[in-house]
Amino acid sequence: MSKKYTAFRVTEVAERKYETSIEKLSIDDLPAGEVLIKVHFSSLNFKDALSASGNKGVTRNFPHTPGIDAAGEVVKSDNSAFKKGDKVLVTGFDLGMNTAGGMAEYIQVPADWVVSLPKGLGLRESMVYGTAGLTAGLSVYQLINQGINPDMGKIVVTGASGGVGSMAVAILGKLGFEVVAVTGKESAHVLLKSLGASECIGRDSLNDESKRPILKPLYAGAIDTVGGNMLATILKTLQYNGVATCCGLVNSPALNTSVFPFILKGVRLIGIDSVQCDINLRKVVWDNFASDWKVDYPEDLVDEIGLDGLADKIASILKGQIAGRVLVKI
Ligand code: NDP
Repeated sequence: MSKKYTAFRVTEVAERKYETSIEKLSIDDLPAGEVLIKVHFSSLNFKDALSASGNKGVTRNFPHTPGIDAAGEVVKSDNSAFKKGDKVLVTGFDLGMNTAGGMAEYIQVPADWVVSLPKGLGLRESMVYGTAGLTAGLSVYQLINQGINPDMGKIVVTGASGGVGSMAVAILGKLGFEVVAVTGKESAHVLLKSLGASECIGRDSLNDESKRPILKPLYAGAIDTVGGNMLATILKTLQYNGVATCCGLVNSPALNTSVFPFILKGVRLIGIDSVQCDINLRKVVWDNFASDWKVDYPEDLVDEIGLDGLADKIASILKGQIAGRVLVKI
């Protein structure tokens, strides 16, 4: 008889009605893949909440096991790059979307989705970063790659108390940037400052309704996680040759802007994708997290739960109520 494992499952109980449960499933029913991994930690991201609430743009078929992140030990590998006992992590690709994900005791995935855990990084620590950290890391990498450095001016980060935002604040702070954190939560100011922000401002400060094409230059760079009018406002307030990265849509997927920031100020807007991004670029960012970019992410901002705590946290993240990272210990 096949070995059983525990998973957090989402089931479509009626049209557009979804329920979650913890179930025992058979390891033989995991998707085909070269590497079987015993998951020690996962983490909760906004996308997991979309998957768990039946967003068909993320997950088409139910019942389903969400979890776009997983870190653990290789149990079996048909690929010579990995062997039993190796510590590894998987984020993105199709994990937790239409492939059974990390909110379970086991995952089985193609070898080219798997990253060896770099020396200097623990399994738990890697999932405190998770996809949120990787996305923040890719955003910081792009700012630096585009020539932005701490001497050029302030970097503004939106959705600052969220997973990606708080990680971006911490990494930028560690690298010596002056960080302006945009947050809707006054209660998060103290923590954001302890993470590395030099200033916290409210969401209204970056919500220009004036229709002016360009505003007073304030920032050398921006890491935007929310989209909508906040990103449009950021483009107007960047300095000459400023760079903004864009990864999210919590505010809105719309971006109503004009060409003026680009053609009058040489502003650059860089898209960030952590899902399909090149495996070698991921390795660079994970290696950075194990060395120069390693942040002291405060335990106050890490909410460690088990599979049984997920349903509540999914509801909270959908309402924008989570500050920091939700770590899932399997
Ligand atoms: P979180 O829910 O953890 O954080 C989002 C934060 O945005 C909230 O904590 C809140 O922070 C702020 N926020 C919420 N609602 C609004 C609003 N209406 N207007 C402005 N700000 C708001 O999400 P994540 O950090 O995990 O993800 C952020 C975004 O990035 C999501 O859209 C997600 O889908 C996307 N993402 C994209 C990836 C990619 O590869 N491109 C990878 C990972 C995430 P505060 O209260 O401090 O303002």
